[in-house]
Amino acid sequence: MPLIIKDEYPEKLFREDGKRLDGRDKHELRPIKMEVGVLKNADGSAYLEWGNNKIYCAVYGPRDVHPHYLAKPDKGILRVFYRMSTFSVFERKRPAPGRREKEISMVLTDCLEPLLFLELYPGNSFEVFINVMDADGGTRCACATVAALALADAGVPMRSLVTAVAVGKIDGELVTDLSGIEDKAGDADLPCAITWFNEEFSLLQFDGKMDLKEFDKCLILAKNALTKIHEIQLNALKNKYIAIQEEYSGGKNKK
Ligand code: UDP
Repeated sequence: MPLIIKDEYPEKLFREDGKRLDGRDKHELRPIKMEVGVLKNADGSAYLEWGNNKIYCAVYGPRDVHPHYLAKPDKGILRVFYRMSTFSVFERKRPAPGRREKEISMVLTDCLEPLLFLELYPGNSFEVFINVMDADGGTRCACATVAALALADAGVPMRSLVTAVAVGKIDGELVTDLSGIEDKAGDADLPCAITWFNEEFSLLQFDGKMDLKEFDKCLILAKNALTKIHEIQLNALKNKYIAIQEEYSGGKNKK
């Protein structure tokens, strides 16, 4: 998948053959790979490649809250730290978390919180550290998706997973899973996430312009894409246990 490294906005976001600049159809997802249990020092972890995005997530908890004043006597707390590496984007990113990273950390906390039974963990915290190693649009969605997997990998009781994707509009056409350049040069960007236990949106942001009919269509496009991505998440979790089973059965279960 070609990585557009310079922040130059192309005039058109569709090629002559009707495909998007990276060769995708309008509603085609970028290639997605997910794996859990990738970091041995974390309680749970996951890695995700989504197009050119590369993201690691580590989860710790339940554990004591530091600093202590953040602890709540009646429930646990969830803390999410979204960070972009200095080398993850074309223009070097300052290492200190900026306004955007703080906002995305907050948005991701709200997105993940409905999944957890925080009322069962008074005085404790769950901490989710997400590091974007390579970024190419849709990182907040990719981070919500990989964080849900890392929480599950940590054995944290959860109501379900959450899955996120950005849909939107480029050159007047509705599209699924915007790349970095489509996000910047397109007409509208709508990142959203669904929590599967109640099929409710736990993330819905909007940037740009579209009419109400298009907005409704976008939600349907998002639901279709999210169903496919959820399947990949579930397979990533299953694959870890298939690998363990194979290891303990001396490879007897290998097909
Ligand atoms: N980006 C960048 N420099 C930054 C922040 C973002 O080049 O400091 C790029 C990066 O590829 C990111 C994209 O712009 O994925 C879109 O950023 P946005 O803030 O819309 O969030 P995202 O789509 O990643 O959730």
